[in-house]
Amino acid sequence: MTIQVPFADLYAQYRSIKPEIDAAIESVIRNSAFIRGPYVEKFEQEFAEAVGVRHCVSCANGTDALYIAMHALGVKSGDEVITTAHSWISTSETITQAGGSVVFCDTDATTYTIDPAEIEAKISPRTVGIIPVHLYGQPADMDLIMAIARKNKLWVLEDCAQAHLARYKGRMVGTIGNAASFSFYPGKNLGAMGDAGAVVTNDASLARKMAMFARHGGLIKGQHDIEGTNSRLDGLQAAILSVKLRHLPAWTVRRRLIAEQYGALLHGTRRITLPLVGNKREHVYHLYVVLHEQRDALARHMASRGVQTVINYPRALPFLPAYQYLNHRVEEFPNAYFHQSRILSIPIFPEMTEEQIDFVADCIREFDQGATI
Ligand SMILES: *Cc1c(COP(=O)(O)O)cnc(C)c1O
Repeated sequence: MTIQVPFADLYAQYRSIKPEIDAAIESVIRNSAFIRGPYVEKFEQEFAEAVGVRHCVSCANGTDALYIAMHALGVKSGDEVITTAHSWISTSETITQAGGSVVFCDTDATTYTIDPAEIEAKISPRTVGIIPVHLYGQPADMDLIMAIARKNKLWVLEDCAQAHLARYKGRMVGTIGNAASFSFYPGKNLGAMGDAGAVVTNDASLARKMAMFARHGGLIKGQHDIEGTNSRLDGLQAAILSVKLRHLPAWTVRRRLIAEQYGALLHGTRRITLPLVGNKREHVYHLYVVLHEQRDALARHMASRGVQTVINYPRALPFLPAYQYLNHRVEEFPNAYFHQSRILSIPIFPEMTEEQIDFVADCIREFDQGATI
């Protein structure tokens, strides 16, 4: 038996909430509330409440969220910002965009998140901040990161693009650092039907700076205190996100349940390393990533059986052509380097059927047995 398993199924998600989404879209159109306006304000309030922070500044996407936050934090030429070697390029490219210099740290061996011990080694008199990424939906080790930041008077900007509603020692990610960025790219755990993003913070002055910068340098029409940029969430996306936010807790439970099922179904496989969750961290499984020595052969096997997989990401950031100018060697990032040739993301999305979950696990087991000599 073969069934098709897509990597994600956004249409299935739409079908499950179609009347609510259709009504939301119609309402925005009826009110011609396309830019700013009540739907955007409503979503900003609801999202701040869901995360448990005082301020939410919506913007055009998760990349802008990082850039806007760093601009407001005052990053300037010569400032060094430390981040992880293992992420999507938004995390590091926005450091450069904001005028700073990128300093990469290796990840820890098991969680794929930044290794706090490595951060300490990378701090210089020019370091101004740290951007931990809650990669794949698992929180980074925030206690150690915050302690290092306090000791060295650095800010912390959490990249929460993959980790909506994840928790670290009971605290929601996005509430621990000075500010946090979110992406609502369609495939993220909370996804719009186009581009969208937000920055959140408990710091009123920082929130004001971020909002001002994102809105052409002014919060009152016609008044521009500084030069800013144009980065905004539109009304349609805001209304769609408000609908989806109501379902996010249930979808998150479902993701965690599927991960648990994978764990049980793949228990006892010989060469597959399953995701490991760090102490007191609540993973929200934006991605379910396994490790295998013969990753490419496993991916081909899955494709031949009709199961879509993805590599997140094929090359760690320091080894991308974009960062050739830093002249990094693989020995400097042994964990990120080890992982890049072995990681494979298998399908995980709330609408997955039991049949699909079983089938994906069967395909992996089949490969694990066949590939063992
Ligand atoms: C998706 C993502 C971003 C960027 O979000 P966009 O909305 O696509 O700009 C930033 N960081 C990480 C870790 C991401 O996964």
